Amino acid sequence: MSIPKTQKAVVFETNGGPLLYKDIPVPTPKSNEILINVKYSGVCHTDLHAWKGDWPLATKLPLVGGHEGAGVVVALGKDVKGWEIGDYAGVKWLNGSCLSCEYCQKSAESNCAEADLSGYTHDGSFQEYATADAIHAARIPKGTDLAEVSPILCAGITVYKALKTAGLEAGQWVAISGAAGGLGSLAVQYAKAMGYRVIAIDGGEEKGKFVKDLGAEYYVDFTKTKDVVKEIQTATNGGPHGVINVSVSEAAVNQSAQYVRPTGTVVLVGLPAGAKISAPIFDSVVKSINIRGSYVGNRADTAEAIDFFARGLIKCPIKIVGLSELQNIYELMEQGKILGRYVVDTSK
Ligand code: NAD
Ligand code: ZN
Repeated sequence: MSIPKTQKAVVFETNGGPLLYKDIPVPTPKSNEILINVKYSGVCHTDLHAWKGDWPLATKLPLVGGHEGAGVVVALGKDVKGWEIGDYAGVKWLNGSCLSCEYCQKSAESNCAEADLSGYTHDGSFQEYATADAIHAARIPKGTDLAEVSPILCAGITVYKALKTAGLEAGQWVAISGAAGGLGSLAVQYAKAMGYRVIAIDGGEEKGKFVKDLGAEYYVDFTKTKDVVKEIQTATNGGPHGVINVSVSEAAVNQSAQYVRPTGTVVLVGLPAGAKISAPIFDSVVKSINIRGSYVGNRADTAEAIDFFARGLIKCPIKIVGLSELQNIYELMEQGKILGRYVVDTSK
């Protein structure tokens, strides 16, 4: 396989600065890395946060973003074991961790203080060739549709892990707040596949039809309903047993701590910049609710999330455009106009 010296990528030099679609060198894998010819990459709202630089965690600069990259292994670092040229591999958010701290020892790799992040502290998948740590890169079964699987590499893993974090039982209600977005549209389907009843929250009629087609039993339109909390509690006969917050809205998160069922679990996933959760202490105590953060997933969660997809239980609702269109996708995302996930074809 011949690997070119240069490639197309989208790069920014300052947070919020121009998104430059240009030629850059193809990176050389370090001894522990594989080189992946990224065919497709999902565009996550996290990529928009990274570009804007609105989180209290600095990005590397200049940066190639992207962390839902699906492609083919084209080169191996000298110490790499267990990968072959031609294997299908995924660039995911967690690209490295120390593997020896107390968190890594217990498989909480994403909580490692030395976590290396694709498309944030390590150049990611908005390029044709990306390096990835051989231990952390995702294994994708050969023959998988690489465009369709790409959103699983962050959105899928994250919502699958968040649903596990909610600790629900089959037949219980789970609310997905932000259900029509990239994470939400997969959360609805993983929740169904795991045996839960889904109440979906998002804005507008089109999004309502979209999430019902994906399997939600009930839809709450936050732009229309007079009282989100009351409507959800009524529809679920006392509140959902779990809530997966994947909106980028502080108000939506705070409402979830009110409508959750007594003894239920509110899972925080979406990361609105500068936001705080505020829940009434009296109600939280008397209802004995749990509020838990959930941050991507570990390697086992990755393999399991991909397996749900490979068995046909999850369909990624994607729209494919060229990598050169990234700026337009960010604009649509900012305006909340995306149904499901945009995926970029790195060759265009
Ligand atoms: P997205 O833009 O595709 O989806 C967000 C959805 O929230 C949209 O459909 C929007 O209409 C909806 N929404 C907005 N306001 C709402 C409200 N008040 N109530 C209900 N829904 C509302 O974004 P995404 O790619 O799905 O990412 C969502 C968030 O999750 C981002 O902040 C991202 O950074 C974060 N994220 C976190 C993790 C993690 O590990 N915790 C992983 C990936 C992404
Ligand atoms: Zn992501």
